[in-house]
Amino acid sequence: MRRKGWVDGYDCLIIPHPYPDELLSSWLTRTAFAHGYSLTTFLSLFIKHDGSALSRIDLDFNDTKALISQLASKCHLNVQTLQSLSLRSEEGYLFEGDSATLYPPKQIRKLKDKRTHYGLMFCPKCLAEDSQPYWRKQWRYLFYNACPKHRVFLMDRCWVCYERVRFSKMKPSEEIVYCSRCEHDLRQTLTHPISMEQSFGIQAIEWFEQGLKEGYFEINNTKISSLFVFHVYNLLYYKIASLKDALRFEAFPMIDAYNQLYSKEAHYHSKKATLIYKNFYLTAMIHQLFQNFPINLIQFAKDNNLTHRDFLHSTKIAPFWFKEAIDQSIPLQDTVGRIISENEVKGAIKYLKSIGKNINQKNVADILGCHFTLHKQFVALYKTMALRYGRI
Ligand SMILES: [Zn+2]
Ligand SMILES: [Zn+2]
Repeated sequence: MRRKGWVDGYDCLIIPHPYPDELLSSWLTRTAFAHGYSLTTFLSLFIKHDGSALSRIDLDFNDTKALISQLASKCHLNVQTLQSLSLRSEEGYLFEGDSATLYPPKQIRKLKDKRTHYGLMFCPKCLAEDSQPYWRKQWRYLFYNACPKHRVFLMDRCWVCYERVRFSKMKPSEEIVYCSRCEHDLRQTLTHPISMEQSFGIQAIEWFEQGLKEGYFEINNTKISSLFVFHVYNLLYYKIASLKDALRFEAFPMIDAYNQLYSKEAHYHSKKATLIYKNFYLTAMIHQLFQNFPINLIQFAKDNNLTHRDFLHSTKIAPFWFKEAIDQSIPLQDTVGRIISENEVKGAIKYLKSIGKNINQKNVADILGCHFTLHKQFVALYKTMALRYGRI
């Protein structure tokens, strides 16, 4: 019978230097390869826990305290240095703490998620420039869909055989850049450049990246914790995405390109890159809504007939500055939206009568789901009807 952890007493001999923005799984894979083992074998041999199970989970997000302290002592590295490689180290800045959860929050991409991407994402040019190629933490952030340095879209698979990147499947080699299925060098992947018109998307990534690094954003000359900004990022992300191609955002420079992605999505072959483009545009739109806060946001709400409910309904907690802006400037109910007909008013009156409730402007408006004084067209209609029919 094989004994697990049989080299438990040995220390790692060759320890690659971890880069400050490197993913823990990237550094672990480099360490495994430096010993001549695959990641799975390395973890089974050197780590007391069940190594093969460890290589199947999301090493970068899992609660890795035990693993990290073990690695730190075996590799003679500082615990803090290794902890900073885990995506958990962004807790309190990028996402709220909930150590019980095994799955990353929305701000961090899962290893595989067909709604946002295919597999682990990367910039081929960054990998090509590295003296020792390594995989960045930021490539897993939902807002990070292009490389600001090289101005190219990130890739989410091997573009020769379409296999997704999995460190646990890679064969040991000098560098962690070879596709696990076809062994194509991922550094040579053809990239899609960012056009001049798409530059605002790069600015958006840089703005979010900078805020995350600092731990705060400056919005309306007020310092706002990055955690709150990313919380609102999520709210806006889902709101905008849910509008699909019915979205109206005249001020957004590439609204047509964004809307076209929805028609492209219907065709199987063009589906591959659209998710990355879509998230690139979504991030740029959210960035734009944060500018001139809350003026752009209010205009956006008006153009899309969004009400207070649309922004705050799905969330129990909203940061106070965001809630304040919504409370002050975005109507509680449908005040301008749809046109209400005379028959609807008659129907509402009939209904109120049938349940024995008072017939007045407020109660009728409540039935119709509009505001009883702010919805001007309703107010005018109700008044003419009252004049025409006497006291209704
Ligand atoms: Zn790059
Ligand atoms: Zn491949």
